[in-house]
Amino acid sequence: MADTNKATVVLGSQWGDEGKGKLADLLAADADICARCQGGNNAGHTIIADGVKYAFHMLPSGLVNPSCVSVVGSGVVLHLPGFFGELEELEEKGLNCDGRLFVSDRCHLVFDLHQIVDGLKEVELGRGSIGTTRKGIGPTYSTKASRSGIRVHHLYHFDEFEKRFRSLVASRHRRYGDFEYDVEKELQRYRELAERLRPYVIDSVEYLYNELKAQKKVLIEGANALMLDIDFGTYPYVTSSSTAIGGASTGLGIPPSRIGNVIGVAKAYTTRVGGGPFPSELTDDVGQKLRDVGAEYGVTTGRPRRCGWLDLVVLRYSNMVNGYTSLNLTKLDVLDVFDEIKVAVSYTINGKNVTSFPADLDDLETATVNYVTLPGWNKDISKCRKFEELPKNCQDYVRFIEKDLGVPVEWIGVGASRDAMIKIDV
Ligand code: GDP
Repeated sequence: MADTNKATVVLGSQWGDEGKGKLADLLAADADICARCQGGNNAGHTIIADGVKYAFHMLPSGLVNPSCVSVVGSGVVLHLPGFFGELEELEEKGLNCDGRLFVSDRCHLVFDLHQIVDGLKEVELGRGSIGTTRKGIGPTYSTKASRSGIRVHHLYHFDEFEKRFRSLVASRHRRYGDFEYDVEKELQRYRELAERLRPYVIDSVEYLYNELKAQKKVLIEGANALMLDIDFGTYPYVTSSSTAIGGASTGLGIPPSRIGNVIGVAKAYTTRVGGGPFPSELTDDVGQKLRDVGAEYGVTTGRPRRCGWLDLVVLRYSNMVNGYTSLNLTKLDVLDVFDEIKVAVSYTINGKNVTSFPADLDDLETATVNYVTLPGWNKDISKCRKFEELPKNCQDYVRFIEKDLGVPVEWIGVGASRDAMIKIDV
């Protein structure tokens, strides 16, 4: 019989913070394995389960389900002190992760050195800074691409590790001049961290290959989001990894033929952190209202998020790249308090109507955003658990999005807690 077992992928469809963690947690309840494929501890998922609030940065949210195995794939960059810090925090909250958390031996390591460089680079960029979380993620992907990176397996040939590490530090000093960094102390720290990490390290390519073949249910959890993708995002205001669907394959070493459903998580409005273009941004009191009602402040940094109306130009483009099989519309309840709701449907650039997201940021700067205005519903939807229970105007809002994108909405988030979700059969 043909082996048709495929992994399900959850991806952010806008600029991040869409609430991917909640869906990933929900799906992980039914998954054997939950894998992260890219990014580092710059991401932030919040999961509220059984009244306990967990903040995930680098570890897969599948850990909340005690029978789910979590895998940190080779596309993830790993800051070991951060990894153990996060693990300790989860365990303190009562999660037992023993024997069900694995790390790929091909992961690149993020050192404090990369974090120092991240800060220096942002200072160098001045007003044009990217607004990174300064967690060293970008500099680690840079050293990966320039072939001077250090991977997990190097830890277990420590002479090689030491040679590479000293050379990496020297090259960063050549590039950025003098900065404080105690190499000997760091080497000693990594000798210890290597032993602590040893039980978690696996060849994740072989592991996932075998598990998929054994018909295990695999959930792949994307971090960040499509508009932050290194190739397809608002470059250079992007993250340094492939956050698009391709990253699921390259970051885990699984073939595209093993990828089944691709669920796009889309907030019912739009937010973004850091610099870069955001056509439907609202800098007025409507934007502030979205921020306040939606509690739009970063999990990792506490930074206020920029807020605006839903942008279908962004979502259409996002769907072209990722090919969503369904959507999870999140935080629809945040729109409960608006009399009318606008949706961006196209841009006008140099007198032309543009319906897909342009590559050139200068073009975007001059774009006029064209909106459709829909009536609000002015009703609390947080207790609704069925689509039919939503007010008519709210249902119409969902249908409007579905129709434009040609993608069914399968889940609707109506509150922060785990159960505040409507499931629609698609
Ligand atoms: P992620 O990184 O994409 O998982 O997103 P974050 O965790 O940074 O942000 C999502 C925030 O919204 C979290 O605080 C969630 O608890 C919360 N959240 C998720 N879904 C909903 C929803 O449907 N309604 C409301 N009001 N909050 C939600």
